[in-house]
Amino acid sequence: VRSQQTLKDAIHCTGVGLHSGARVSMTLRPAPVGAGVSFVRTDVAGRDRVVPARWDAVADTRLCTVVANADGVTVGTVEHLMAALAGCGVDNCTVELDGPEVPIMDGSSAPFVFLIECAGVAEQDAPVMALRVLKAVTVVDGGKSAALVPSDEPSYSMEIEFASAAVSRQRFRVALGPGVFKRELARARTFGFLHEVEAMRKAGLALGGSLDNAIVVSGDRVLNDGGLRFADEFVRHKVLDGIGDLHLAGGPILGAFHGVKSGHALNNRLLHALFADPSAWTWEAPGAIDAVAFAQHAAVA
Ligand SMILES: [Zn+2]
Repeated sequence: VRSQQTLKDAIHCTGVGLHSGARVSMTLRPAPVGAGVSFVRTDVAGRDRVVPARWDAVADTRLCTVVANADGVTVGTVEHLMAALAGCGVDNCTVELDGPEVPIMDGSSAPFVFLIECAGVAEQDAPVMALRVLKAVTVVDGGKSAALVPSDEPSYSMEIEFASAAVSRQRFRVALGPGVFKRELARARTFGFLHEVEAMRKAGLALGGSLDNAIVVSGDRVLNDGGLRFADEFVRHKVLDGIGDLHLAGGPILGAFHGVKSGHALNNRLLHALFADPSAWTWEAPGAIDAVAFAQHAAVA
């Protein structure tokens, strides 16, 4: 049975918010056993500054995953940080921010994995509780779907299809194990199409977006000078998003995720559907076999 884990030390970074374009300062701090992940908005006064990183606190999923508390205090673009925490096996962490968004960094989870490795991961004095999927749950929206099915191995699969030849049809499946997230997924960047980016800018969104923090596709071409980090970087990023969105369950998931063109909205609907059926899940301490898969110290990657 793997222990719960937190950071050994606090660590800090700054970056820009993708949608606000504003500079954001972020500090990741160790948190006690059972605390989970929560955000603290240090710039907020007179209202509750704490926003839980939980599936039932998700308030918006249109452009990114946004969580909110009862006072309406929000934190946006949580998914790439949540994916890094999941991928590095960090169960308990307090994330301080002086603005409304997690910084976008390079559009991937790699800078957050680097921060977590610099801080170090520490074992805590309690077993981790994993969310075991007991029966298949599926949500569908037109041609899109997301499902969680029982499996002894935590795994994620995704398929996407876009008209652009730069993306076209891509599938990716990964079973999480030590070092897998860092090696196969962390560096995959978010992406957008030039016409969408221009429309968002006109609407006052994606103000911090640039070729430094997203892959931008125009027609059948990738506009970024350095090209892609993986030939199938697009679908790998969608898997990364899925891992981040599903980490809002409140612990590691012992089951297999299957997404077809799934995004933040459907990923969150899937957690609502799962938790709505008490016969579909249980919290349990992973056994000896599962502990191998959950021993995801980034430092030993
Ligand atoms: Zn993303």
